[in-house]
Amino acid sequence: MIPATLRYHRASSVEDALAVLAEHDDEAKLLAGGHSLLPLMKLRLAAPEVVVDIGGLTELSYVRLDGDDVAIGALTRYHDLARDPVLADHAPLVAHVAGVIGDPQVRHRGTIGGSVAHGDAAADLPAALLAAEASFVVRGRDGLRTVPAKEFFLGPFTTALEPDEVLTEIRLPRADHVGWGFEKFTRRAIDWAIVGVAVQGDNVGLINMAGTPIRAEATERALADGASIPEAAALAAEDTSPADEPHATAEYRKHLARVLTERALVRARRG
Ligand SMILES: Cc1cc2nc3c(=O)[nH]c(=O)nc-3n(C[C@H](O)[C@H](O)[C@H](O)COP(=O)(O)OP(=O)(O)OC[C@H]3O[C@@H](n4cnc5c(N)ncnc54)[C@H](O)[C@@H]3O)c2cc1C
Repeated sequence: MIPATLRYHRASSVEDALAVLAEHDDEAKLLAGGHSLLPLMKLRLAAPEVVVDIGGLTELSYVRLDGDDVAIGALTRYHDLARDPVLADHAPLVAHVAGVIGDPQVRHRGTIGGSVAHGDAAADLPAALLAAEASFVVRGRDGLRTVPAKEFFLGPFTTALEPDEVLTEIRLPRADHVGWGFEKFTRRAIDWAIVGVAVQGDNVGLINMAGTPIRAEATERALADGASIPEAAALAAEDTSPADEPHATAEYRKHLARVLTERALVRARRG
């Protein structure tokens, strides 16, 4: 399929990208790895008049320690996250999850910022970032603001980002020596998760169990009250609203959420 006619602008800096976004309001879209935006454009589900390519802004590709946080540039690609020694030591859940997204081509193109900004409940990293208590640094015309992950995902493919803002950095509190676990159930190894679970400590993030990535709050409350892992995992589908589809009914997804949560919690407790 061929996308609609568009104007392509290769941004020379974040300021340059912000200026073009400000000029075009809702009609402009940022392009990072292109692995979500371009398929949507080919299907004409998205038809931006202007595409602002930020993929060349290498200053937004980094992982570094910053006080008690790990700071990750929004344009850092999954492949680089998966191999980064700082992330492996201080946020191993996020490093692991980046390494099991899609296939090698997706991991060499896809960016952490693109995954977060796209706001897809079926994506792997957003749920892991919720469990890791990440926050997102957003730059707009009026300066910077920081949004906690819990307040960022507002609805299906809808986030707290305004059309004229750029997500520049993802910040994670250091999780040295904190147990973690990640489980995703797919039909084939490279497929999107039917359901996935990301655990860091006693935080549990769920993939594909609602219109947004969510925390399994009933499970977390039970763990805080001293419940055993099986007791807490049995509550993983509480307050969820998974899609009901022929290949995976809502009931089946709820069952998966409980089973995968138990496995991920057991893995996390082993350290
Ligand atoms: C075949 C295939 C398989 C895949 N499998 C998986 C999978 O198993 N798990 C998974 O999680 N994902 C999967 N993906 C999706 C992949 O992770 C995408 O790369 C990701 O969702 C978007 O990242 P991107 O850098 O490609 O963003 P883009 O496609 O460039 O952009 C996505 C959206 O985010 C906006 N955006 C991008 N960067 C910024 C920024 N810095 N600030 C503000 N807005 C921004 C864009 O305007 C656009 O609206 C798959 C994709 C493909 C094509």
